[in-house]
Formats: sequence, C-alpha cells, structure tokens
Amino acid sequence: MESAMLIKNGRVINPTDAGGKPLSSVASNQSLDVRIRDGKISELENELKTKAGETIIDAQGCWVMPGFVDMHTHLRDLAQADREDICSGTQAAAAGGYTTVVAMANTDPPTDCAEILDRVIKRIHERALVEVLPVAAVTKGLKGVELTNMVEMSDMGAIAFSDDGMPISNLGVLRRAFEYARLHGRPIISHPEDHDLSHGGSMNEGMQSTCLGMKGIPSASEAACVAREIEVLRYTGGRLHFAHTSAKASVDLIRQAKAQGLSVTADATPHHLVLSDAEMMPYDTSFKMNPPLRSAKDVEAIEQALVEGVIDAIATDHAPHSKLDKNKPFDHAPFGIIGLETAFALCFEKLVLSGKMPPNKFLALITTHPAKILGIPAPQISVGARANIAIVDPEMRWHFEIGESLSKSKNSPFKGRALKGKNLITIFNGKIVYFDKDRAQRRIQEVCATST
Ligand SMILES: [Zn+2]
Repeated sequence: MESAMLIKNGRVINPTDAGGKPLSSVASNQSLDVRIRDGKISELENELKTKAGETIIDAQGCWVMPGFVDMHTHLRDLAQADREDICSGTQAAAAGGYTTVVAMANTDPPTDCAEILDRVIKRIHERALVEVLPVAAVTKGLKGVELTNMVEMSDMGAIAFSDDGMPISNLGVLRRAFEYARLHGRPIISHPEDHDLSHGGSMNEGMQSTCLGMKGIPSASEAACVAREIEVLRYTGGRLHFAHTSAKASVDLIRQAKAQGLSVTADATPHHLVLSDAEMMPYDTSFKMNPPLRSAKDVEAIEQALVEGVIDAIATDHAPHSKLDKNKPFDHAPFGIIGLETAFALCFEKLVLSGKMPPNKFLALITTHPAKILGIPAPQISVGARANIAIVDPEMRWHFEIGESLSKSKNSPFKGRALKGKNLITIFNGKIVYFDKDRAQRRIQEVCATST
C-alpha cells in the first residue's frame, strides 16, 4: 500500500535559501499540517482533516523541517563493515534527522574506479535507509599521483571528487583534477593538510600538547594547504570545497578568496564548533580526530565564520572506528569520531539557543547550503517536494547514551553529554525510517481504513 501520512499540530520551519533569504513562496515558522502521499508532500494547510487509512503523527510542540544533508560521512562498509556499513551508518543518519548523506571515497578498497563505485552503488540500493550520494577518489589508491577516471565515475553518479583523509600534495595533479571535475561541474572536496607539517602529530600543537607531552599538528598544516590550493583554483577555475575547516588562519584565507570572487566553499564540523583542545580528556582517543580540536580562538573563528556565511555548511565527518583500534595508545589510535546523532543538538545549542542565529538560518547550514554545493535540489517543506522530513522537539532535554547509538562504532567525545533539541521522527520519501522508540512512539497512530 502507498504511504499516506498526516503530520498534525507541528510548526513548519523552512531554511533560508543559499543567499540567506527566506525561501520564496514557502511558508516558514507557521503552524501547518503536512499531508504526504506517494512519497511527496501533497498538502500543507491549517488543520487538515484526517482521512481513512492514514498514519497520523502528532507533532505538537515540534518543528517540522526538511531532512538534513550531511556532506561528509564515512560509511565504511566493503572490507570495513565491522566498523560501519551502509545500513548501520544510514540508521545513525536517520536518527540524527539526516535524509541525505555524502559517502566519502576512502573506503577499503578506495572508491577509485568504476568497478568499486559500482559495488558501492549496488550496496546503497540494497542497504541504505536514506539517500546516499557517493564521492569518488581524485587519484588512484588515494596516493595523490595518478588521476582516476573522473569523467566515467561522474557519469555513473559520483557527486563530487575527494581523496579525503589524504591531501593532494602534487599541485600538478590537483590542477588536472580541477580541469576534469569542471567538465561535469563537480566540486573537488579538499582535506587540507600538509603532511610534512603534521607528520607524527596527534593533537593540536599548542600549550595543551606541550603540557601533555604530545607531538602537535600546527594549524599552519591546514592553512598552508588552503592557501596553495586557492592559488591553483585561481589559475585553473573549477570548484573547490574545503572540508572540516578548523583553523582561524584557514577561515581568513577562505574569506579573502570569496571576496575575490573565487568559487570556494567550506564546511566545519560540530566538534570543531563546540570543543577546543583545552576541553579534551587527556589521552582519551574519543577526542582524537583529524584535523584536531584547535584553540579557543580557532573555535571562536569557526563560529563567527558560520554566522557570517564564510563557512557555508556544517558537516559531521562521521568516522567510525572499532573499539580495538580506539583502545590503542593515543599516539597510535586512528583519527576520527562518530557524529551523525549528536550534530543537530550540539550546533542548535551553540548557534540558535545562544541567540547567534535564527532557526531558519541554522537549518540552511545543514540543508540548502550543502545541497547547493553538491548541485542537488534544495530540501524544503512545500507542496510537491519529496517527503524528506525531520520532526524535532526543540525543547526536549536528553543525554546522548552511547549504548543507544545506532552506529556500529562508539567513538564519540560526547558520550553521556546533556543536550537540548531531539530529533524524534525521520521520514524519507514518505516512509518513517526512524522514530525515537522511547519518546515518539505515542505520537504515531494509525487511522483504521474505515474511519473518516
Ligand atoms: Zn578529511
């Protein structure tokens, strides 16, 4: 039977557009009921009457928003399915309110040829709970030497190109990559890091690393890479997106490049927005990620850049790792933390509850802005739009209990953290793909086929 659903009593929140203006002809911040038919939003009115056979969702006190877009997720799978697979990763995404995730190419084996991309796409069809858009590698084996067949993989559906996890140090290779990616209008997603500067480091270089006796990764490792890649872009043209911006110096360079009219965009992660290196639990590998948590000044610059629009999007860099790997000594443990389930609440508190920006502008950072960078339709609550929806209680206080995480991996620095704002129900193409079983079950009710 086709899905038929009515979301009642909620407040519809739509994001601003990519230019920061309210979406034209679409309601926002209004109490409206939402009817869903055949995977799409069919009606958007005040007090719609229930119909026979519908599933009714009571969204009293909740915000009804378009499902979120995460433009930087590591879904693992293939040879690393013990850490995460496309099923568990998209379950975690749905729990966080995400209905679209972009899967990075540093899989094992890397997504660097048509054959592997084809395997990934097949698995997405078989196992994904929400939309997964695959990224393909820029160079074979992520080695930074020989370009992949970008034209072929673009035709197959690669949404962007990235050697994420590895920087492309050879600028001649990067230049050719821009030229090929430009043919299809695809962005290059850069992981800006200078390996000669970062080599051997496991946390931010500064007072904290000195106190802990750890080798540091200077912020210059990121900023130097941002600077040189901007110069290559200036020469070749194309589209350059910087992932997980963490340093004030990088923000300054990106601001300048944008002012000069270059096609540069950037994202930042929730953890770089809410945590500094001073808040790390010493030697706890749940706080080890790349780029590392930076200084309080850097955190401030990231927040300011999101408010000003210099950084365009928030992306999780969800990076699952096994307990065995994360239990290694700090220096030897892998970089990365999971983040899909905590992203909304962490950023909501930091940006909206603090009064830094209104809800619709914040929502744009996780919907319209990443969608524009990726060249996909802007998610919105409007008649005719795909029924991809997150129903969030903005007042709900909760704790992130790591045992309840739907990810296969549990490497989060936010274990047990008190949060405000909880996604209760996620709808993808008109189907409920997540509901918070303890908090949302009573809100869902089937209307039997004979009632009116
Ligand atoms: Zn990266």
